[in-house]
Order: sequence, then structure tokens, then C-alpha cells
Amino acid sequence: MTAKNADSPKSDSAERRSNFLSSMIQTHLDEGRHQTVVTRFPPEPNGYLHIGHAKSICLNFGLAEQFGGRCHLRFDDTNPVAEDVEYVESIQNDVRWLGFDWGEHLYFASDYFEQMYAWAQDLIRAGKAYVDSQTIDEIREGRGSLTEAGSASRYRDRSVDENLDLFGRMRAGEFEDGTHVLRAKIDMSNPNMLMRDPLLYRIRHAHHHRTGDTWCIYPMYDYAHCLEDAIEHVTHSICTLEFENNRELYDWLMENVDVPARPRQYEFARLALNYTMMSKRKLRKLVEQDTVTGWDDPRMPTIAGLRRRGYPASAIRSFCDLIGVSKANSRVDFAKLEYAVRTDLNLEVPRVMAIVDPLKVVITNYPADSDDLGQVEQIDASLYPHDVPKEGSRAVPFAREIYIERDDFMRNPPSKYRRMAPGREIRLRYAYFVTCQSVVEDADGKVIEVHCTYDPATRGGAAPDGRKVKGTIHWVAAPTAVAAEFRLYDQLFAVEVPGGDDFERQLNPASLTVLNGVVEPSIANDAVGTRYQFERTGYFISDTTDSKPGALVFNRIVALRDSWGKQADPKAEAKQSPEVAAPSAPPKGPDTRPKKLSKTEIRTRIRAQDPDLASRYARYQDELGLEEGDADLLSGSTDLADFFDAARTAYDAIEAVTRWVVNEVMRVTDDGDVSALPFGGAAVARVAELVDEGRLSATAGKEVITILAEEGGDPDAIVEARGLEQVSDEAALSQAVDAVLAANAGQVARFRDGNPQLLGFFIGKVMKSTGGKADPKLTRTLLQARLNG
Ligand code: ATP
Ligand code: MG
Repeated sequence: MTAKNADSPKSDSAERRSNFLSSMIQTHLDEGRHQTVVTRFPPEPNGYLHIGHAKSICLNFGLAEQFGGRCHLRFDDTNPVAEDVEYVESIQNDVRWLGFDWGEHLYFASDYFEQMYAWAQDLIRAGKAYVDSQTIDEIREGRGSLTEAGSASRYRDRSVDENLDLFGRMRAGEFEDGTHVLRAKIDMSNPNMLMRDPLLYRIRHAHHHRTGDTWCIYPMYDYAHCLEDAIEHVTHSICTLEFENNRELYDWLMENVDVPARPRQYEFARLALNYTMMSKRKLRKLVEQDTVTGWDDPRMPTIAGLRRRGYPASAIRSFCDLIGVSKANSRVDFAKLEYAVRTDLNLEVPRVMAIVDPLKVVITNYPADSDDLGQVEQIDASLYPHDVPKEGSRAVPFAREIYIERDDFMRNPPSKYRRMAPGREIRLRYAYFVTCQSVVEDADGKVIEVHCTYDPATRGGAAPDGRKVKGTIHWVAAPTAVAAEFRLYDQLFAVEVPGGDDFERQLNPASLTVLNGVVEPSIANDAVGTRYQFERTGYFISDTTDSKPGALVFNRIVALRDSWGKQADPKAEAKQSPEVAAPSAPPKGPDTRPKKLSKTEIRTRIRAQDPDLASRYARYQDELGLEEGDADLLSGSTDLADFFDAARTAYDAIEAVTRWVVNEVMRVTDDGDVSALPFGGAAVARVAELVDEGRLSATAGKEVITILAEEGGDPDAIVEARGLEQVSDEAALSQAVDAVLAANAGQVARFRDGNPQLLGFFIGKVMKSTGGKADPKLTRTLLQARLNG
């Protein structure tokens, strides 16, 4: 058997979903704004990459590939203190492993330091930057607050010559850290605090992993990043939402520096996953304090950890595709990532047998020979199930003594138990029917051996007389069994949203369970890093670091089903089982009226009669990651499920589409009866997309749904005809703002007298006067400028 290695992403690119960024880029190309698309992935080499970075990598490299452009790998190494070559190397390794190739486009921000310095001098010459010699605390205080303008530094009006001289001496190493900074000269009362004379350079006497001691001043992120993009002729600089406010500074620098190209910044929602953290700083803490064994500990959300855990690169890519790209931050359930891994492995890996917690079984009537271990016969067993398009088989030895899972035997089982128990006949996978006759216990009454008889006529697992057995279990023959260590991993954190600085206490004490068991001999000499499904147990990989011939170690990649979710919410499992789904008996006592069924109970009954809806209910949760309540609602009738499926196919931002259907379509229908609606799922999807693109406010989106429900039609046409498009045009919005301020002179005076909380009142008025169409951020900015100015 051979290991399955990282494969080319080309195979799945064809199915890559469109998103608001790809639609926008398509428009830019159609309009001739760009000929070639250039994106970049710009990590700071201060830690290992995590699954959040994978989202950004798939997005940036994916867009470049989709439009025949290119994606640069650029190290944003502007902060010498936390950075290291170890990280530079691991990052390249991880991006490559994920299946992406930057070709010759590997860049380092530190290569541009000289150019950045020259541009800073230009800004000084143009009177747009100055050396500030205040302390860091003074600078912070002088910046003001959201409700108060900042105040100018006493050094703000230094002459160009003095600034050039000081800046040169900063570079020459004449000054201590923290004594001077270079600041842009923009506007100390700008409503966007990032525009209040932001820092461009600071002094840092520190050794840089690439430039050594050449520099003792280093550019700040905001100054450096856009210049790096411009130098590389990046067309679309894609970053996460928390940089939205930085865009104004990005654009200011692009306008005021003589750059060779004019990139623009676009933001998307970062990935957050339940039960884990996405901060390199915090992950580094786990490594440094030995909470985990290293950056590649299989419980870490790092690419290196997931790789060692056994997650295939292709599964990570399909996960990134599954979650889509949107403009709304949200948390993704870890189960969705595991779903992607299972789906990928199911079609790829061989099925073999392993026993993680062995119990010995002796088949007393099986022929034994003189060595006491019993004869060994070989049974041919297929490596893949029928529904996997792969072929192959191996010989599995069978003997008088075998091991089964301790879990697969029970002395006093409940009636539904489908495994081994006294007096029961069951099937050993691929082999024979066996019946448990007696047990051997130790002094404490613990079962240490089970004695069975077998029926030689059932070889291959079927009885000539056609009799059936209740269950099938897996096994490994004892004489040829190969010892192995099994590492069963669970979530690293016990809480859904770990965070804060004492995340230690949130760790899951059971995140690793080590068991010693056996595997069948066919895999004893496979290469490390080979993946399998151990039948009935889970997907496993032989550990690339610790597994050796003769001392095999297997990591559990993922269990076969989502046992985590069920463990965390025992009710969820109960609700899914049909026995419990039937309405409960009326309460005892005088009230004997039949209990009125809740809507959920009604839907559960409908699904019990309709396997298609039942399977959609499961799929919505397992594949799409919907919350149970949403899945329940949307799979309550075929009409509604079809409607929802049409919507999510038309626009694949699952979370957004779900919210619009669950909240808005429910609002305009009677109990979700969509059969009478004059519009379909695709129309709702379009509304969701317009809102995500920022072209419609959420309020206007809801209005479009109301209109659709009353009159039907096409969302774009409705938006056009009613002028609902969000007002983000500054001139138009300024008019509305001025009108509101003029009409509320009394409140304006109160605001200026020291009631900053009135800002919300004015924002509300502007929203109202524009029928909810005003872009709320721009409204706030304009109001602040007027009220504070
Ligand atoms: P961290 O806080 O983990 O250090 P970062 O954003 O500081 O993350 P960078 O090395 O600067 O790390 O990130 C490189 C790129 O990856 C950036 O473009 C950033 O937007 C993106 N990125 C980082 N975290 C996520 C995430 N959770 N989801 C999506 N993209 C992310
Ligand atoms: Mg960072």
C-alpha cells in the first residue's frame, strides 16, 4: 500500500465556487481595469501557519489560478523581534504542501527597505511626514478618542530640513529605541483614528533574520504593506475584515507616494473555528509552555499539525471551498472540517482491521496444531467497499485465537446490542459465524478471555441454511498480530470559544488518549504517513515522526461519525433516533387529552415518513454545517427544502443564505409554506449576495423580500426601480447628514456640550431619512467630521 500524498489542486479548481471577490474581479477584467490579476499571500514569519491562513491561501492562489493570473508569496518581515528563518521555511513548506505554487514570485518586504526609506524621504520633502519626538504615551494621548479629536504634536511643524536630518540620524543609529518616530502628516481630527498622523517608522535596535544589523529603523505595517503591494504590481490586495478602517490610509499612501502601480484593498471574513484558536501568538504560547509537543502536535490547528494528524491537503482545500468567502464574520463548526476530511478519505484509503483495545477470543472448536497457537488460514479480503471506485484485496490470516475490541463484548447486553454476548451468534467480518459459550475472568471479575465456537460452514460470512446473525464485528488473528500504539485525538479545548489569556484552564484534559493494541500484518511494513480506515474504528495514519517498523504508531485522523457533536449535545442524538421521535405519551394524572405537538415534533414525524427529507435533515447539519434548529425547519417540507436548495445553489454563502431563508422567507410566508410565493430560492440568494457585496443595506434587503412576496419580480430590477441601492456616495450622503443636523439644532448643541452618546441618535435620523439606504459607516464618519469639526 502506498501513502497518498498532496495532490494537485487543479482537480478541484473546476468546482471552485464563485464568491463576491471572484465576481468583482470578473467585472474588473470585463471593464478592462486590469489585464492580469495579481494577488499575494503575505504572512509575517512569526509562527507556523494555521487553518485560517489556509483559507487566505486558497482564496488568493485560487483567484489567481481562476483568472490565469499569479499569486505571490511575500514575507511581511518588517518586525525583526518575533520573526525567524524557521518560520520562513515552515511557511513555504506548508503552502507548497497545500498544493500551491508561487513559481518565481517569492518576495520579502525586507528587500524593499531601501525603496521604502527613499519614499519616506519624499513624503518629508512634500511636507507630508515629520519626525515626532514625543514619548509613545504622549503620542497615544494626543491621538484623542472616537468622540474627541486629537491634538497636534509640538514637533508637527518641524522644517523639512530638520525632519530629513533627524530621519537620517534615526537610520544612522544615533538614537535609542522609542525616542523618535516618523509620522505621516494627515489630520489630527480625522474621524478615522488611523488617519490621525499614523506612525510610519520606529526605531528598533534589533537583529533582523535577513538584513542583519543593516537597519535600526523599521517601517510600520500600514506604511509597508501597501508599498509592497505597489512594488509588486499587485492588483487585488485581499485581507481580513479587521483591516477595513486601514483602507483609508492604504489609499492615502497610494495617492501621496510616487508608486509604480495602484493596488486596492478588499476585505473578507476571517475564519474562526469552534474549539480552537487562530492566533499565532497564542499558539506559540502553547508550544513554548509545552502544553503541546510542538507546532506540529496533531491537536494543533496549524497546517503542520493537521498534516501530521493525517488531514489530506485536498480535504483542507475542499473545506475552504465549502465554507465559502463572505463579508460577515462567523464561527465555523469544527465538525465541518471533519466532514471534509471524512469525505475525502472515504474515497481514497484502504480498509483494514485493527484492534485498539484488545480482548482475546479463543475459538475452541477451531483446529489447533501442536504449537498451541492454532492453525493459521488466509482469507482474501477486499480493501475497498463496493461504493468506492478502487480495487484491491489482501490476505488476512485467521486463527484459533483472535482479538476483538473490548467494546464489542458485553456480558449482560441490552436487547438491541448487535455484538458479541453469551449465547449470541454473530459474524466475524470476512470469516465465520461464532457463538460465545463462556468467559474467563480474573480475580476481580473482569473478563480476560471469551470462548466461542464457530460454524465451519459459514466461511466467508454466510450460512448455507440462510440463517441471519444480528451483527458483524472486526478482529485480528493473535499469532500474526502486530503490536501498535494508537493515539486517539480529541479537541484541544473543552470550550467552544477558547480565548482570553488563561486559556490553559479551558484545555480538554482528554485531548489525547493512548491505547496499545494490534493491527493485521498486511500493513506492518507500509511507509510512514500511510492512511487507512480501520474498520468500524476510524481513519488513521501512521505517524510520520514516531512510527517505526516494529514500533508502529497510528494517529486517529477522525472518527467515522461525528461522536464529538453528540457527546457535547446528548439531546441531539436522542432527537435523531426514531424511537424517541414519536410523540411522548400524555402525562399521567387527570389531564388525559392528547398532547399538542410542537412544530418540531410535527416535522420530526414528517421526516419519519419521508426518507428524502430525513436525509436532507442530516445533510444540512453534517455537510453544510447548519445549526440543528435551522436544519429542522428547512427540512420540514419538500417545498421548503427545495426552495432552500435552490437558494444555496444560486449563491453558495451557506450562512448568509440560511439566515435570509430562515428569517426573511419565514416572515413573508405562513409557517414556511413557500408553495404560494411568487418568487423562488434564486431571488432570495440574489438579495443575500447584493447585501454581502455592500450594494444593499440589510434593511433594504428585507424590503426587497417584502416587495418580492407582494409582487414577485427580479431583485435587481426592484433595486433599480426603487432606487434602493445603498447610498455610499459621499456627496449624496453629506446632503442627508446636513439636513438632519439642520433640523435638530438643539441636539447638536447638546452633543457639543458633552453628550457624545447622541451620535447614535443622529445616525438613526440619517438612516431614517434615507429609508435605511445610507452606508452606516460613511454616515458615522461624516457625522463625526461635522459634529467635532
Ligand atoms: P495571526 O493573528 O494568527 O498572527 P495574522 O493575520 O497576524 O494572523 P499574518 O501572517 O499577517 O497573520 O497573515 C497572513 C495572511 O493570512 C493575512 O492576509 C491574513 O489576513 C490572513 N489570515 C490570517 N488569519 C486568518 C484567518 N483566521 N482567516 C483568514 N485569513 C487569515
Ligand atoms: Mg500578524
